[in-house]
Amino acid sequence: MVIGVHRRVIAIDGPAGAGKSTIAKALASRLKMKYLDTGAMYRAVTFEAMLRELDLDDQGAITLMAQECDLHVGLDRVIINGHDATLAIRGPEVTGNVSKVAANSGVRTEMRIRQQEWATSHGGGVIEGRDIATVVFPDAVLKVFLTASPEVRALRRVDQSGGNVTEIAAAIAQRDLTDSTRADSPLASSSDSVVIDTSDRAIEDVVDEIEKLFMERNI
Ligand code: C5P
Repeated sequence: MVIGVHRRVIAIDGPAGAGKSTIAKALASRLKMKYLDTGAMYRAVTFEAMLRELDLDDQGAITLMAQECDLHVGLDRVIINGHDATLAIRGPEVTGNVSKVAANSGVRTEMRIRQQEWATSHGGGVIEGRDIATVVFPDAVLKVFLTASPEVRALRRVDQSGGNVTEIAAAIAQRDLTDSTRADSPLASSSDSVVIDTSDRAIEDVVDEIEKLFMERNI
């Protein structure tokens, strides 16, 4: 691990619908830093496993596939083994299975290596996920854990992709439970993370706060 480069990482963690992607992208653009959505990596691996009709409980087969896959997660496109998975990874099928695939330790080890290599080759960046501050970049210069009330999180998802609020709220609660109770790198805030509740805040306001925190530390 290259310590100096990883100190140029801003880690943004939190549960589904807390505003991570919108805030992390806006922050990266403002700071002229690169942006990595690690959730898209787990989603792409899930997509490919489903495309190949692999048994998602077969941890060995899924791990091998994850280790061998050619994965590109960019700002606009997610490509895995030549398949453009950009839209499909946001669909209900992948969303319903991703937490199971993300609980596979072999998959996590592989994704963690790729995330650390990404930061090294890009000179750091704004990286969002569930375990970025706790496990992947424990020496990140700034760690932020975003939260929001379950009602607000469900409403945001419905605004983005439609659906029934009660059903979406139940699906989010189930995914949060799986993500926060898994044995390997569960969703959790790091003791040195700044916790920000985005429920009643404007995006720009939260981005301003994180930018200020970064400027104070990045001396
Ligand atoms: O952020 P997003 O909702 O796209 O993440 C999808 C899923 O990927 C999460 O519910 C979680 O299971 C997994 N994930 C993870 N670790 C990360 C990022 C995402 O386990 N760093």
